[in-house]
Amino acid sequence: MTKEYTHWVGGAPVAGASGRFGDVFNPATGEVSARLPYASKAEVDTAVARAVEGAKLWAETAVPKRASTLFAFRELLVSRKDELARILGQEHGKTIADALGEIQRGVDVIEFACGAPHLMKGEFSHNIGGNIDLYSVREPIGVVAGITPFNFPVMIPLWMGAMAVACGNAFINKPSERDPGAPMMLAEMWKEAGLPDGVWNVVHGDKEVVDALLTHEDVPAITFVGSTPVGEYVYQTGAAHNKRVQAFCGAKNHMVILPDADMEQAVDALVGAGYGSAGERCMAISVAVPVGRGTADALLEKLAPRVEGLKIGPYDDPQADINPLITAQAQQRVESLIARGVEEGADLLVDGRGARMQGYENGFFVGGTLFGEVTTEMDIYRTEIFGPVLSVMAPASYEQAVEMVNAHEYGNGVAVFTRDGDTARHFSNAVDVGMIGVNVPIPVPMAFHNFGGSKRSKFGDTQMHGPESVRFFTKMKTISSRWPSGTKGGAQLAFPTND
Ligand code: NAD
Repeated sequence: MTKEYTHWVGGAPVAGASGRFGDVFNPATGEVSARLPYASKAEVDTAVARAVEGAKLWAETAVPKRASTLFAFRELLVSRKDELARILGQEHGKTIADALGEIQRGVDVIEFACGAPHLMKGEFSHNIGGNIDLYSVREPIGVVAGITPFNFPVMIPLWMGAMAVACGNAFINKPSERDPGAPMMLAEMWKEAGLPDGVWNVVHGDKEVVDALLTHEDVPAITFVGSTPVGEYVYQTGAAHNKRVQAFCGAKNHMVILPDADMEQAVDALVGAGYGSAGERCMAISVAVPVGRGTADALLEKLAPRVEGLKIGPYDDPQADINPLITAQAQQRVESLIARGVEEGADLLVDGRGARMQGYENGFFVGGTLFGEVTTEMDIYRTEIFGPVLSVMAPASYEQAVEMVNAHEYGNGVAVFTRDGDTARHFSNAVDVGMIGVNVPIPVPMAFHNFGGSKRSKFGDTQMHGPESVRFFTKMKTISSRWPSGTKGGAQLAFPTND
């Protein structure tokens, strides 16, 4: 019998009651592995009501006590990471090594969030005038909804949720309907770690559930990670309902390779950042930009055989380089974009279409694909492909490369490979991109710094994790305080100053 998931509300599993369901697949075999209930508006209302109760209790819990629950959760997560990695492999398809990397990036943010007592510290000014002391405190905002994508079902709920909870809020995760198993395991572990009921909830579903959260009057903040069209909709709808919203969205990340770069290093970087996780990462490199024809020729000579040699495989095959894509639709979409690139006149150097593996004939695989002679007008350049497809374009000058990066609608990540510090510094200043790597291909900042893109890769003005996330997940209150002994007699009708 096919497994059936539940929601997680008020610290317990809750069976779906709407009668609406979706299928969850094993991407390596193409088989349905579970049925997922999609919540109705009424079920979302119940989850929010339980979260409101949880938020009230949790906000009153002393900050160091909240931090101790985060420490306990971190221990549990680390002790069960192999089990979690297997669930990721079975539903997302990513390899065990990749899954463990994702989990570790989640652990990093929990460790940062364990510093909540320090992060939540306010400000104090002694005697700002007339024996008045002035202080500001950060308070939780209440119930935060976190809408998360399929490609990091552990890391992204933790990036959002650990910070939201550390700051004293309740969290409702609406995970991707493609791979809900890992987010459900996280919810169970929070309960085991001692988080009060109602503080961490999971409701499954599609647009209907997202809309119910975006318009709910008891949800004051929405944090979203996913594609740009959906993120823009979430941002605008949430803002129109007076919510605080941040939305981290799509990408097309360039890697500029200057003629002086170490070519071996650049090729290794492109293979890892272009094809790791089958290119299903918002920080994947999808455009290689060698500057000058000579650099392009030198790069392609080494790169093409490496791409040709990449092996597809299921998550538990230690030889696998490229995992299956998330759905049959994603596989068809990527294959049709490859066909579009050919139509548009790009040079298809390695074609990953039709990649099949014995025993996994119905898996959603696309093999490593490499295009040369790509131009800025082509759809394969303008679109986020989100598959194992790398485009190579060779502008004649460094200035043209910078212009190209800046003209693209997305600005999530970018890398420059060079031995010249002066150029690297110029590049870092000149590009309108949120996260920049100098000889680092996937420059995802560590937990104690902030994460976020620019242009249409992000809507809203705060960043993920790092000190900025504390600002997103709290509201500030400022108190002017004077004790009766410091008060002069007599009413003052003029506007108060510090005289
Ligand atoms: P998606 O936009 O399809 O889905 C994201 C979430 O939104 C899911 O929970 C989904 O159920 C929900 N959703 C989907 N359609 C909706 C609609 N019409 N209305 C309301 N909600 C809807 O994204 P995905 O395919 O799960 O993830 C891949 C995308 O996420 C890529 O574009 C990738 O670049 C992006 N991403 C960005 C970052 C970042 O930090 N910038 C990180 C990871 C992924």
